Amino acid sequence: MTKEFAGKVALVTGGSRGIGRAICRLLAQGGAAVAVNYANDENGAKETKRVVEAEGAKCLVVRADVSDEGQVASMVSQVEGALGPVDILVANAGWIQTGTHEEVDFATWKRHFTINTDGVFLPVWAVKDGMIARGDGRIVCISSIAALRPRPRQIAYGAAKAAVIGLVRSCAEAFAPQVRINCIAPGLIETDMSNTLSPEIRKVMVDQTPMKRIGRPEEIAELAAFLLSDRSSFTTGQTMVASGGRVTLP
Ligand code: NAP
Repeated sequence: MTKEFAGKVALVTGGSRGIGRAICRLLAQGGAAVAVNYANDENGAKETKRVVEAEGAKCLVVRADVSDEGQVASMVSQVEGALGPVDILVANAGWIQTGTHEEVDFATWKRHFTINTDGVFLPVWAVKDGMIARGDGRIVCISSIAALRPRPRQIAYGAAKAAVIGLVRSCAEAFAPQVRINCIAPGLIETDMSNTLSPEIRKVMVDQTPMKRIGRPEEIAELAAFLLSDRSSFTTGQTMVASGGRVTLP
C-alpha cells in the first residue's frame, strides 16, 4: 500500500475491536499516526495499539465515552497534545440491542441515540473547526443498512443510524470545501456485534444476501480508507453501502 496517509493524524472511535480495529490497521499501513478510542475494552484497545505499531505507525490509546461531551473534548485534546491536530476522524463506535417493538422502551430508544448519534455528533463537533481552519479534513461516519432497509427488530438502532446519514449529508454542505465527510452503511459484518445475533438470524440474513456470506471488517476498512484518501477527492456527503447486495432486496 502507498503511504497515502503519511504525516496525517487519525482518530478512530471504537477502535478496540471489530471494524474499528481493521480501520486503525489500514490507516497505520497508509502511514497515519493513529489514536485508538475505546469505552471499556482496554485490553482490546491495547491489542489494536500492538497491531498499529506493528505497521510502523505511532499510536495513542484514549479512553472516552463518545456520548459524553467532556470526555470527547478531553480525548481530542489528549490526541492533539500527543500526536498533533486531527486530520482524519472515523466515527465508528456503536451499540445495538435487537428486540421486538414490545421490547423497545424509551430508555432503550434513548441509549441507541446517545451512543450511535450523539456519539457521532460530539467527535465531529470536536474536530471540525480545527479542520476547517487548517483547510483540510476527512471524516467517515459508520451507519448501517438498518438505516436504509426496514428491520422490525432494529427499530431504535435503524432510526439512530438514519440520523447519522442525515447529519453527514447536512455537514457535507456546511463543511465544504475544506472538509469532506462521508458515511458507510455496512451490512452484516463478522464482529462481536454480529455475534450477538442467534445462529438462526445470522443464517436468515446470509440467505437474504445476494453474495451469500457475512462481510469481513477489512472490507469496510478498505472503503473507509478510500473515502478518507485523495482517491475520493470529489466525494462528500455520500453514504456507501457495503452489504453483499443485501440492501437492494425488497
Ligand atoms: P463491536 O465489535 O461491537 O465494537 C464496537 C466498538 O464501539 C467497540 O470498540 C466499543 O468499545 C465501541 N463503543 C461502544 N460504545 C462506546 C462508547 N459509548 N464510547 C466509545 N466507544 C464505544 O462493533 P462493530 O461490529 O465493529 O461495529 C462498528 C460500527 O459498525 C458500529 O457503529 C456498528 O453499529 C456498525 N455496524 C456494524 C455491523 C456489523 O454487522 N458488525 C453492521 C452495520 C453497522 P469497547 O470495546 O471499549 O466497548
